Amino acid sequence: MAVSAERSSPIASQTQPSPSPNSVPAAAAGVALRSVTKKYGTVTAIENMTLDIPAGIYCCLLGPSGCGKTTALRMISGHEAVTSGQVLIGDRCVNDLPAAKRNTAMMFQNYALFPHKTIWQNIEFGLKMQRVANGERRDRVAEILELVGLSHTAERKPHQLSGGQQQRVALARALVTRPQVLMLDEPLSALDENLRVRMRGELRKIQKQFGLTFIQVTHHVEEAFSLSDQIVVMNHGLIDQVATPSQLFSQPASQFVAKFIGDNNIFSGKVLSSTPHGDGNDLIRLDVDGIGSLYAVGNSTQPGTDAACCVRPDLLTLEKSSADSSLPSSSPAANTLTARITQVELTGFVTRVALITTATGQPLLHTLRTVDFEKLALQEGQTVSLKWSANDCVFLAH
Ligand code: ADP
Ligand code: MG
Repeated sequence: MAVSAERSSPIASQTQPSPSPNSVPAAAAGVALRSVTKKYGTVTAIENMTLDIPAGIYCCLLGPSGCGKTTALRMISGHEAVTSGQVLIGDRCVNDLPAAKRNTAMMFQNYALFPHKTIWQNIEFGLKMQRVANGERRDRVAEILELVGLSHTAERKPHQLSGGQQQRVALARALVTRPQVLMLDEPLSALDENLRVRMRGELRKIQKQFGLTFIQVTHHVEEAFSLSDQIVVMNHGLIDQVATPSQLFSQPASQFVAKFIGDNNIFSGKVLSSTPHGDGNDLIRLDVDGIGSLYAVGNSTQPGTDAACCVRPDLLTLEKSSADSSLPSSSPAANTLTARITQVELTGFVTRVALITTATGQPLLHTLRTVDFEKLALQEGQTVSLKWSANDCVFLAH
């Protein structure tokens, strides 16, 4: 349909001028939740959630369906009341303020555009509600339409626009009211893959350009990683981890996070022993059923307790198997195990090697540069040894 028009969107170009002072929204505000709980009858959707979202950042609430992301967002926006606890925008508790008085805007999953109004009228609507005078209204709508690259569609109806364009109208409609915080609930989920990747670049660009606080709900890991300054990983109404994308990637705080962000190799076992390892960390020896000892770094728990460790697929090294390497590791410098290659997937510059441990049949994943894989001259079905440093192996207490 209008895909080619979207490619030439001015937001996507580096030469986009900064918005004039007139279009800059009120200063961004931070958001905080203090011991917030939300119950729907007997269902606890959010349990005792405490969270700080600094002003001007892009924050994603990430987690599987039903974990409470939308509920958390709607309590911030004022579309849902808290059962207990406090919601703060800036330094002000907004528990008793209706959505329209919170200086926030919400962009809904289905865009919620008025089908019979033109694009211009759709965007103008919020300003009319705010009783903004005619002349200023005209200027602000024109300006925001230009910013999202849709001036030429002003007189069209929503159904005459592509999905990506409608998404931009929804964004313009939210931004034109100059919110301090913009909330987005799965804003890209209705778009096809290509468009989704392009639109998330545009969202990020607009967030930076305006310096606004964006809080986005998503269940899409890659989306959260590519957009966020801060990711809040949620699980069953609780926060599992708040971290930057790179922290989340290198230091998942729980087995749930390690699994949810995908591709981590996770080993469950029992803590055998631990020794101090610097920086307040311990070097922990875990007994993994069928595999033997693995060494990981983190904050140890009592010997005998169930725990796990994980290692990223890119931090393994793969070697042709020798007789020695089939023995379990005895040196903390390197964890070693024997595995068989089950599948090799060349995805471009990176090759994904799926394996199973010969001892237990546990599936593992190793990724490496295709050029390095080719040097190894390995094939499916071959037995290899996998090695990784204890320092790259994250201890997961729960
Ligand atoms: P997410 O956005 O992460 O998918 P939600 O916040 O929509 O999750 O839902 C969290 C939990 O609260 C789910 O168990 C859901 O069924 C429940 N829930 C959400 N809204 C309502 C409601 N209006 N009434 C009853 N239960 C609800
Ligand atoms: Mg939701």
